[in-house]
Amino acid sequence: TFFATAGCIARTGATPVFADSSPVCFNLDPDDLARRITSRTKAVIPVHLFGQCAEMDRIMAICRERGVAVIEDGAQALGAEYKGKKAGTIGDFGIFSFFPSKNLGGFGDAGMLVTNREEWGAKARLLRTHGSQPKYYHKMVGGNFRMDPLLAALLGVKFPHLGEYTARRQANAAFYAEALGALAGVAQSGGDDGCLCRGRKTPDSGASRSVRLVLPSACAHNKHIWNQYTLRVLGERRRDALQKFLKDREIGTEVYYPVPMHAQ
Ligand SMILES: *Cc1c(COP(=O)(O)O)cnc(C)c1O
Repeated sequence: TFFATAGCIARTGATPVFADSSPVCFNLDPDDLARRITSRTKAVIPVHLFGQCAEMDRIMAICRERGVAVIEDGAQALGAEYKGKKAGTIGDFGIFSFFPSKNLGGFGDAGMLVTNREEWGAKARLLRTHGSQPKYYHKMVGGNFRMDPLLAALLGVKFPHLGEYTARRQANAAFYAEALGALAGVAQSGGDDGCLCRGRKTPDSGASRSVRLVLPSACAHNKHIWNQYTLRVLGERRRDALQKFLKDREIGTEVYYPVPMHAQ
């Protein structure tokens, strides 16, 4: 994930503990989550990385059983769905980002917190404006987390088009899958029934040495919004060679992420 997922935990004084991710959908591995959770765990932040939701049924079951709160990091997944439910509405809180690289990008920094819990929502609103309610009557020490009005206005204009943006991204992803999938040495991760979070093998895990590129896949129960179309390039230095090849043809790419979080 991006640094912010762990940084926000550290800033509260808590200790981030990392759980492993699935090599196929790239999201939180529920089995590893279950192993790492302890009586000192306050909250779990599953990330809906690259635009598709983590395995929320299992994550919620594990956390509910232990009374642990769930905060969905939906920064890359605005409009994504898990079994028909919108990303960010399944856990106790959902967070979204309107940084320019996200699916609903602004011209600066902004974000959104959502919750179905009335009380926690009210507290979040207080914290947003220096804890004041009404104005100049402060109930707690909050901060200034208001969105710039110009940015809000821009996002208001773009928001009605989010469905079209998503459809375009999905069409692009389908085009990549078809065009790239037709090439020799290219394999689709996952396959038939979708989520590979349950110890399924990836195409690079043995048998097929001829595989050089693994395409991303959407789990059957997920509506993927493709914030990123993420390839896995097998073989030492092949990734960097491919990136240079594309750069020479003025095709932009990015390594998501060059240093994994647990190594920072
Ligand atoms: C972008 C991003 C964030 C942080 O969003 P900001 O608006 O930059 O604070 C958090 N988590 C993930 C997964 C992101 O991609």
